[in-house]
Amino acid sequence: MSANTAWIWTDLADRYTPHELTILERVLRRPCPTCEAPVGCWCRTKSGKEIRDMDEQHPERRILAPATAPADREPLGTHDVPVDDGRA
Ligand SMILES: [Zn+2]
Repeated sequence: MSANTAWIWTDLADRYTPHELTILERVLRRPCPTCEAPVGCWCRTKSGKEIRDMDEQHPERRILAPATAPADREPLGTHDVPVDDGRA
């Protein structure tokens, strides 16, 4: 599973901090409910173009990601994906 997002840590290491990459990985480990981007893939615009910016990923997908969300923003749904932090 983690292989789907491993590219984040190599391709984006010079663009985001490790903390940001951790958040981004959580986001990309879920399929997007808005544009249906699969796990490990960027969100896409309506025309199918990849949105290669973590701040531009669809809000619905970012809200679903656990962790750093404010306390008043409850994660939606109960189908939480186990977070595997045991990467080498
Ligand atoms: Zn999306």
